[in-house]
Formats: sequence, structure tokens, C-alpha cells
Amino acid sequence: MHADVLVIGTGIAGLSYAVRLGQLEPKATIIMISKRDLLESNTKYAQGGIAVVSNFINDSYENHVNDTMLAGENSSDREVVDFVVREGPARVQELIDWGAQFDRKGVDLHLGKEGGHSAKRIVHHKDQSGLHIQHSLIAKARSLANIVFLENHSLVDLITDHHLEKDKQKRCYGAYVISKKDEEIIKITAQITVLSTGGAGQVYAHTTNPQAATGDGLGAAYRARVHVENLHFVQFHPTALFPKINNNTFLISEALRGAGAILRNNKGIAFMSLYDKRLDLAPRDIVSRAIHAEMLKNNVAHVYLDATMLPLEILHQEFPTIYESCLSVGIDVTKDFIPVLPAAHYICGGIDVDHQGQSNLSGLYAIGECSHTGLHGANRLASNSLLEALVFAARAAKSSAKQLENRSLSASFFNAIPEWRGTEAISNERTTHISSLRFKLQSIMSQHVGIIKSVSSLQLAEKELHEVFIATKALYQQNKLTPQLTTLRNLVSVAYLMIKQSQKYPENRGVYYNKDYA
Ligand SMILES: Cc1cc2nc3c(=O)[nH]c(=O)nc-3n(C[C@H](O)[C@H](O)[C@H](O)COP(=O)(O)OP(=O)(O)OC[C@H]3O[C@@H](n4cnc5c(N)ncnc54)[C@H](O)[C@@H]3O)c2cc1C
Repeated sequence: MHADVLVIGTGIAGLSYAVRLGQLEPKATIIMISKRDLLESNTKYAQGGIAVVSNFINDSYENHVNDTMLAGENSSDREVVDFVVREGPARVQELIDWGAQFDRKGVDLHLGKEGGHSAKRIVHHKDQSGLHIQHSLIAKARSLANIVFLENHSLVDLITDHHLEKDKQKRCYGAYVISKKDEEIIKITAQITVLSTGGAGQVYAHTTNPQAATGDGLGAAYRARVHVENLHFVQFHPTALFPKINNNTFLISEALRGAGAILRNNKGIAFMSLYDKRLDLAPRDIVSRAIHAEMLKNNVAHVYLDATMLPLEILHQEFPTIYESCLSVGIDVTKDFIPVLPAAHYICGGIDVDHQGQSNLSGLYAIGECSHTGLHGANRLASNSLLEALVFAARAAKSSAKQLENRSLSASFFNAIPEWRGTEAISNERTTHISSLRFKLQSIMSQHVGIIKSVSSLQLAEKELHEVFIATKALYQQNKLTPQLTTLRNLVSVAYLMIKQSQKYPENRGVYYNKDYA
């Protein structure tokens, strides 16, 4: 298969990129692939909304820039922060023009408040912002004739000069992709390849991310010698619901604390005043560490979130999904405290890109959660990630349209790129073995590379991960490739990078906390 552009990932980043490019370059052919169905993504689960300045009486760009710099502990790139914040309103308006509807108070947008924000500025659609955005973007993308979708197809490897048996990695030419249904590996060539594969929360046992968030783009980029940075900055969300729902960890949005809910320990005592003067709306790293400390102190598996003071009307209007989801596991939010614990939520680092989303490998862009743009620094400010995805997708689309003016590679060049050369093995791997290795990796990362790390815990993690690496390598060499096996290989690469980058990081900053440095 061939297209001008191959977009790998159909969350907010990939879809908004494709729609923008489709409008800028109606003749450009675009193939979009997604690991599962088009909808399944981190975007789908975003509750709070998009942080954007829209009320210039009580808020300003400067305030949003300062809040972002403060959350990132001054290690964000100020120039990036500045343009992301200033371009935000136009990107949100574009989403509205494409069919998204956000909650309103009269004619104005209704704005929510989240931790670390000095003003109300979260544009949202009830507590299902991501799902709604995702539906709107899919409908818009489907209306464009030049976009072709391949669902249930998973990235195996990027096609680079390595596959042409050249020594130097200079360019990306598309990707090898495996179909879930028949496990066939196909070659998709393209002038431009875009990674928009989202997060990697599944590296941990407790995560708010869905099953498909396994850092596949990061793993493939790392194998192609693309720079992947700042993976030691993993943000844990303080309040995930303690009992899992259908084996998935459900998020209790920060917006609930924004509306007045407070954290209590197992004795019913509100404890945040012991840890930060901003109380329950302190930045996520501080709240997560406070919860972790309370859990250790009292030897319990969770703390509580008390939302019983919120009027039923607010719960129904603004938090219907949280209300219903809690009810589904027997928790009536109007009467019961909600059991919560921190869970891996967002990877602040990723594939290093410039201001247009271009990586260090020519022809390869990275946008959205899989990228590292410099916006988040050592800690992401709540609801800045959907914003980042929109702004960088638009910039990358504009840059791609310019690049496509000169389609530099010929059809005969692409035809000469070899098909996938895997092992000759025809036997299938032992699926249970893959699952148990995935489980082992998750427990290594949760135990030793979690909210609080130490020099010895990182050493232990490295040693134990090596065993998983050896076992995965053996499976990879001896068996026919399957989507599960490629996923495991990526999880191992991401975990390895997280450990190595954690070991190299010399201080406590933002979400990175090593008790030996305290
Ligand atoms: C529960 C939850 C709540 C959140 N709430 C908010 C919020 O309120 N505000 C905010 O700003 N951010 C929030 N976030 C973060 C935000 O949702 C994500 O950072 C953002 O949606 C990422 O968008 P994306 O397009 O980069 O990736 P995603 O939306 O994750 O999309 C990734 C895409 O890549 C595809 N993919 C992955 N691997 C492969 C592969 N191997 N082959 C092919 N395709 C692949 C997937 O199928 C999917 O289509 C939340 C995240 C979670 C999990």
C-alpha cells in the first residue's frame, strides 16, 4: 500500500492532523491506522477537557503560561509554552467548526477548574470531553474523501534506511504493519509518516490508560534511532477508582476536586493541609505523593475522595459518567466516600520534535502524547495535553503540506523497498507466556519505578527487566510475529528507557522523585 501520508494513531492528534491536512491539501492521499477500532484511544477517556484561555476578563495568556511553567517546575520550553497557549483558542474554535460542542453558560463557554490552574479555563463536554471530541473528529475525517482508515492494524516497525541496507538512518519511508485478523504483515510506504500512537500507561499495573496504550510509537522510534527523551517524567493521577471496572482502572477526574470534593484518609481525616497550602488542588505530583505517604503511614491500599457535599444536580449535570460508574460498583457518591489511589496517567516525555512536530529522522513527525515538545517539562499541567495535541497537529499538518509540494521520492523507489523479512518460524508463540511476561513487567515497574524511586529500586528494576527482555527476545526470534508479541517488545523498550533515563536524572523535580536525593 502507498499514500502520501501514513498516520499511525487515530486519537485527537492523528485525527485533527489528518483533517487539517485533508483541508490544506485536498489531493494528498492519507492512510490512517489504529491498533483497535477508530474510537479506542486515551482521547476517548479524557474527562476534564481542554485548558484554553477564553475569558479575558478573569484570565490571560500570561496566567496560563505561568501556570504551565510552574507545574513543569520551570523545565518547560517557554517559547513552546507561549505559542501553544496563544494558538489554543483558534484550535478549539476549529474543533467547534468541525462539529464539537462544548458546555455553555449562556453564550459563553462553561469553564471548569483543575489543579495548578489559577483561573477557570477548562473547556469541556460534561465529563466525557474526550469521547465527544473523538466522535466529532471521526465524523469529520470520514467526510473527507482522501482519508482511508485501516482499523485493527498495528505498527510493527518504521521503514528506514536500515531496511534498505544502508548504514546511516536518514529518512523514514512508511511502516510495516500487522493486521489483527489474519496476522499478515503489510508494507505501507509514504512520503511522510506521522506517529500519533498516544501514551504508555500500560507499562504499569495500575493505569488510567486503556489496554492499547503500550508505547508502541516510542518503541518503534527508539529502534529506528529516533531521539526519545524525558521518559522518567511519568505523571501519576492521584485519584483512580480503587476497584477496577471490567479490569480497567477508572479515573475520577480532578474536576471533581475542582468542584469541591476533598481527600480523606482511612480515618476520615482531610489530610492535604499537611502537605501543601493549595490543599486538594495542588499539582498532581504533590497530591499523588501525599496519598502515597498516607497509604504507607496507615498501611492501607487506598484513601477516599469525599464528594458528598456536592449537590446531586451538579453531579448529574457535570459528572454523570463518574456518578454512574461509581454506582455500578456499589458506591453512591452522594452518600459514600469514593475509594481512590494514584495510577500511572501520562508520559510527559516522548519522541523529541521541533516546533513543527518533526523528529530527528527526516520524513517522520510525532504528535500528541507520544511526542516530547517541551510543553510539559517535569510535570504536565492538567488538561494541557489535548491542547498540545491540537496545536502540534495543526503545525505538523501545515509543515507536511509544504513538504508535499515536492514529492521527493518516486514510485519506483517505494516499490523497491523490500517486504517485511521476519523469522521463518511458523509456530505461534505461547500466548500465556506473553501475558505472564507483560504482567511481570508491569509489576516490576509498579514496585520499583513508581511514584517514589530509589537508587537500589532502579537497579533492581533493571536487573529484573533484563530477564523479561531475554525471554521476549527468544520469543521474538523463535516464533511467528503476532500483535501481542510486538506489543510486548515495545513495552520492554519503553520500560528500559524509563529505567535508564531515571537512573541518569540527577535531582528531584516535578513528577520525578527519588528518595535518595531527598
Ligand atoms: C482517563 C484519562 C483522562 C484524561 N483526561 C484528560 C483531560 O481531561 N484533558 C487533557 O488534556 N488530557 C487528558 N488525558 C490525556 C489525554 O487524553 C491524552 O494525552 C490524549 O488524548 C492523547 O491523544 P493522542 O492522540 O496523542 O493519543 P491517543 O488518544 O491515545 O490515540 C492513540 C492512537 O494510536 C493508536 N495506536 C497505538 N499504538 C498503535 C500501534 N502499534 N499501531 C497502530 N495504532 C496504534 C491507538 O489505536 C489510538 O488510535 C486523559 C487521559 C486519560 C487516560
